[in-house]
Amino acid sequence: MKKKLVLLSLLLTLLLTFSKANESKLLTIPEQTNFKRTSTYREVMDFLKKLKAKHPDRMKITFFATSTEGKKIPLVILSEEGISKPEDIRFTGKLPVLIMANIHAGEVEGKEATQILMREILEEGREDLLKNQIVLIIPIFNPDGNDKIAKGHRRDNGPEEAGVRYNGQGYDLNRDYLKLETPEVRALVNKIFLRWDPVLFVDMHTTDGSYHQEPVTYAPNMAPQGDQTLIDFMWKRMLPEIDKNLEKKYGIKSIPYGNFVDRKDPSKGWRNHAYLGRYGTCYFGLRNRLSILDENYAHADFKTRVKGALAFIKSILEYTSKNINKIAALEKEADLRAVNKVKNSDFPVSFEPVKTYDFTIESYVFRIRKMTEEEKKKYPPWLGGYLVEKTDKIKTYKLPLFASYKPREFVKLTEGYVLLPSEKQVVELLKTHGIDVQVIGKDFKDKVKVFKITDVKSSKRIFQGHHLNKLSGEEILKEVKIPKGSFYVSLSQPLSRLAAYLLEPLSEDGLAAWNFFDRVIVREWSNKYRMYPVYKVMRTPPVYMYTL
Ligand SMILES: [Zn+2]
Repeated sequence: MKKKLVLLSLLLTLLLTFSKANESKLLTIPEQTNFKRTSTYREVMDFLKKLKAKHPDRMKITFFATSTEGKKIPLVILSEEGISKPEDIRFTGKLPVLIMANIHAGEVEGKEATQILMREILEEGREDLLKNQIVLIIPIFNPDGNDKIAKGHRRDNGPEEAGVRYNGQGYDLNRDYLKLETPEVRALVNKIFLRWDPVLFVDMHTTDGSYHQEPVTYAPNMAPQGDQTLIDFMWKRMLPEIDKNLEKKYGIKSIPYGNFVDRKDPSKGWRNHAYLGRYGTCYFGLRNRLSILDENYAHADFKTRVKGALAFIKSILEYTSKNINKIAALEKEADLRAVNKVKNSDFPVSFEPVKTYDFTIESYVFRIRKMTEEEKKKYPPWLGGYLVEKTDKIKTYKLPLFASYKPREFVKLTEGYVLLPSEKQVVELLKTHGIDVQVIGKDFKDKVKVFKITDVKSSKRIFQGHHLNKLSGEEILKEVKIPKGSFYVSLSQPLSRLAAYLLEPLSEDGLAAWNFFDRVIVREWSNKYRMYPVYKVMRTPPVYMYTL
């Protein structure tokens, strides 16, 4: 009898503890609404504050930027040691990994999945993910876009209402990484990338493209000017292992991000076009760091997307937890290569897509039909007058992935760049990126490579507030006077790849393209263009310089 009583009371205590834990379990907005709604900025902040109140020792919140409409953007820091600033990391012997969501604020599942991840790490048995690393999370990077929640912003399969893609100024934040015209990306680059120096950056999105079954898609840095060893490591080692683990442990399938090359014939291939530095994950690659673009499948329902996104970031953190020191060592080697091997090398300026590898995709049988006259008015002309419709019949395709880019044309780099004193605004921007700039303390003359512009074509269409330029011209060797107060950017520095990317006049996504030199690259009365205001020097300026 006594034994039975003891057992009963034990059972009661267990039940009580369980229901208490359940009572106090913080739920995200989708969990509370059966995945009908996504959270507002206030609701995210509310969740974060309540979770932090329960775990003040392992969870910290700092704010690193203020949006145009005045919302403070949170960075959540999860660590066993209670780290709240980057200076304290070195005492832990650990390194940070950064996960960011909601840059395109209509793409919402990352915002919800990162909140659930925090809860799982802090109170649902996933504290193992903090054992070897510091986890940095930006759950809501675009709060202004997020809070414009309404119907009809996305064609995703739920939630009913979502925010918009652009920020409070009307910019697409995932096109701003080079020009830094938004308070959000400017602070992300200068306050998070530069100060915390995460070994990995994960950027969470929702796809908008082709039909398939897999709920998660991914890509590493695609910019071919990035360190090739790191790019190869991502494609060949890291992503396949994360992909495999995601399926084995969580039962979720994933494939590389992309779209069918030819809508009419899926077997022709799968292509990822996004190789420019304006995209966050590519930009991060130009900084010699690893990055993962997460694009969750838009046609999957909201709950499936949150579940897939959550499992994917856990699979990533499991990988980094095991391999973080190896990754950091690879990145340090890439930094060293950037210091020693970029100057005087061939820098690619145009590319063609080439096969990365073959893979299989679970998709559908498609039906092709001509548009009716009515449909022709409804759809854009580039669809070519026919529609490709998905049937319910599932089909597996084996097809080539085109996500690698082979250089077609090169320019030769030199020791570094000299910027004329007129380019203070550009220098300011380079400094914000973390690029080392020195001031030349004395006038001098030297033989340098100058870029003689023969033509500037500006796009007719406005893109992100710009008419993008395409320059033509040739480099000529010329003796010029370099005035005191000019600036020197050496290519013997860890961010040399990024510096060349921004300053080369033929760089497809460089500062000349983004109109930063428009004041000077104009035609004179003689119909000739003025000189490009960045010289390529053949040697370090042989005069006194000081660091800016
Ligand atoms: Zn997106």
